[in-house]
Amino acid sequence: MSDPFYLVVAAVFGAIIGSFLNALIYRLPLRHERKFGKRSVCPYCGASIPAYLNIPILAWLWLRGKAACCGAKIHWRYPLVEAITAVMFFVLAKYPPSGIGLTVDTISFDTLMPSLLHGFFVANLIACTFIDFDHRILPNPLTYSLMIVGILGAWLVPGLAGELPRGVDPSVGSLMISALGFGVGWGVTWGVRVLSSSVFRKEAMGFGDVKLMGGVGAFLGWDGALLTFFLGCVSGAVFGVVSKIVTKDSEIAFGPFLVLGALFTLFWRAPIVEFLTVTWPEWQRENANSPLALGAVAAISLLLLIVLVRRGRAS
Ligand SMILES: [Zn+2]
Repeated sequence: MSDPFYLVVAAVFGAIIGSFLNALIYRLPLRHERKFGKRSVCPYCGASIPAYLNIPILAWLWLRGKAACCGAKIHWRYPLVEAITAVMFFVLAKYPPSGIGLTVDTISFDTLMPSLLHGFFVANLIACTFIDFDHRILPNPLTYSLMIVGILGAWLVPGLAGELPRGVDPSVGSLMISALGFGVGWGVTWGVRVLSSSVFRKEAMGFGDVKLMGGVGAFLGWDGALLTFFLGCVSGAVFGVVSKIVTKDSEIAFGPFLVLGALFTLFWRAPIVEFLTVTWPEWQRENANSPLALGAVAAISLLLLIVLVRRGRAS
């Protein structure tokens, strides 16, 4: 458990990162059109934005949602992304998945690194979510950096991607677990992608999803990758069916549901693993058909997704 001081620092830091994510979400998909500039500019009129009007959330409230330069209505999504990132960083500090909270007495490289790495993981996933919503793509800079930082992070912080194997050097063991997670995340998604395009002649999983799942596996290990994929498929299928019924819009983005699964896995891995390894087998002994039921849920979800997901051309 972290100090209250660090909880506040984490939330403020999160809001600032959220402001940076807004710029990424807006500009990354435009990079092929050579509009990827460095300055902070108004997305409506192109005027440059002074630093004091870039203050997360507060500036939006101060300006009452209108741009200072041209008076254009600033979309509520800008402060929303900042608020989500602030809340997620606060939650990361309060319930650190690594189990290492930050306090004034214990702050050091070893206690700070897991928080920073998980902060990067969550921030990257938030950017992926909103870009996938808007454009049905997951940009390479996001997915590649997720894979690289995940594997390097596991090497720097032994145990980051899961429990260490016995009798192996901690750094080497941690690297192996992360690499295995990367392989499983990548392999499972790639397999489904190949299957859906050869059997159903439809690109349900883009290559961006494959890379995203490789990165998620590098951070969460092989079991985390499988759990993420399962949760992503089920939640995506449920949402897809409901949205088809309610809005008649039959096509959904898959990335946000993988992100949802990854965040669930990051924070609730222990209770979920406990459920799958203790509660579930006990229940299974009394209900012989339960593995079939679980398999059916997975298969039906996957089928629905292949029908419902639409991908952009670029990944
Ligand atoms: Zn403007």
